[in-house]
Amino acid sequence: MDVRVRFAPSPTGPLHIGGIRTALYNYLFARKHGGRFLLRIEDTDQKRYVEKAEEYITEALGWCGLVPDESPGQGGPHHPYRQSERSGIYARYALHLIDAGHAYYAFDTEEELEAWRAVGEAATGTPPKYDAHTRGKLRNSLSLPPQETADLLASGAEKVVRLKIPFAETIVFDDLIRGTVSFSSDELDDKVLLKADGLPTYHLANVVDDHLMQITHVIRGEEWLSSGPLHVLLYRFLGWERPAFAHLPLILNPNGQGKLSKRTADKLGFPVFPLNWKDTESGQTWMGFRESGFEPGALINFLALLGWNPGTEQELFTIDELVEAFSLERVHKAGARFDYEKARWFNQEYLKRLDNETLAIRLASLLDEQGILHNPESLPAIAGMLKERVFFLREMPEVGHFFFGEPRSFDQKMLAQKYKPSLRPVFERLIAALQQLDDFDPASLEAEVKRFAAAEQLGLGAVLPVLRLALAGTVQGPPAFDMMSALGKKASLQRLGDNLIRFDQMLATA
Ligand code: GLU
Repeated sequence: MDVRVRFAPSPTGPLHIGGIRTALYNYLFARKHGGRFLLRIEDTDQKRYVEKAEEYITEALGWCGLVPDESPGQGGPHHPYRQSERSGIYARYALHLIDAGHAYYAFDTEEELEAWRAVGEAATGTPPKYDAHTRGKLRNSLSLPPQETADLLASGAEKVVRLKIPFAETIVFDDLIRGTVSFSSDELDDKVLLKADGLPTYHLANVVDDHLMQITHVIRGEEWLSSGPLHVLLYRFLGWERPAFAHLPLILNPNGQGKLSKRTADKLGFPVFPLNWKDTESGQTWMGFRESGFEPGALINFLALLGWNPGTEQELFTIDELVEAFSLERVHKAGARFDYEKARWFNQEYLKRLDNETLAIRLASLLDEQGILHNPESLPAIAGMLKERVFFLREMPEVGHFFFGEPRSFDQKMLAQKYKPSLRPVFERLIAALQQLDDFDPASLEAEVKRFAAAEQLGLGAVLPVLRLALAGTVQGPPAFDMMSALGKKASLQRLGDNLIRFDQMLATA
């Protein structure tokens, strides 16, 4: 069997990271089995259509590296991949279902149905469903005399096509994640398949397209599980083989309560969308992972483990390793709690694994943007030191500000502990000794400082913190030798000299 899976978002707004995770699992499954990963845009609901949402989806998938093999943009053998461009396809399947006795025309207007529901609700406390119990009392081709139906159809009266859900049937199907699932057909209502405007609803279009596009596995969010029985019936009534179903667990709010929402995320200060999204109606901009500084590989790694586990302790994966390790059997049934700290940790680990040259190029453009001068030669080494100390690349100019100028402040408390003006001559001698060094690389610096400290009968603990304070303003900066080497001989010795004088002044006035 050639595996074919699809990601089928509706362009009703920005893609939530839950959607990215669905796309990711589809992508991993397709790659793992040498199959194809499709993007299909389900835009038949004109009322919920949001301008720019499709562009957003495509850009977000591209940024994450989840590029489909067939899509509206790329085309493919089942072109078009946008349902609004396939609207001519669906009606014939609805008619086929009517002919086979599995669907019917319904002529009730929205107002009639509303009034009917209100009366029912007033009487019983719950609004009635359009189903086997009630359809006989409503205006449809099953309840009306055949002639009246024919007249209504001939007169062009407004109508929809509804699926005739069987009475009291238990619908059982296998889900690759949940095992055997069963629903009673009494829980379902006679869903509209074809709307008054002639366009299909989600259910009809989705099933028809999955069939025509030869989808073998439907991998989608848990919120669609309740559509499962309806889709099972549609496949049966249309005489088609059903793709396998796999319903993914929800992504939950950090406290484990409810589906992760953009409002909770906003309140807690983290993104839930892959890219920034500006809501044209409210004018509000929702923060994206990209703009928050995430590496796409880190986000993907984080999302992969939000609902799936590899069965080992391994947490860090490249996309190829994920493809290798992924299986639907290891997707969890229970909801996965969103943990932003963990997402940041993944980003940090990703930065640490990036090579310094690559980081330096990106750091350089960040510094250029901010008008911060830098020495391209030492930037790889600087990036290498800073990547151990940040969660995001964008934090580097700030965290490493002392590489691009004088330290902005000095840790007074540490200074008082580690330095006293009587030590000044010692450090002047150290500067003089370092002045003689030809190689200013970390190893040579270390050897020379060690030699010097031994000769002065000082421990390194007496020397290094002072060097770090003078170079970076803090003892928490990178190792002194690495900093000195990156700053270069001239700049670092100059800075050491100047700041020792400054330290004396600071301590004198303290
Ligand atoms: N259009 C549906 C959505 O927005 C697709 C659900 C499915 O994958 O069947 O998620």
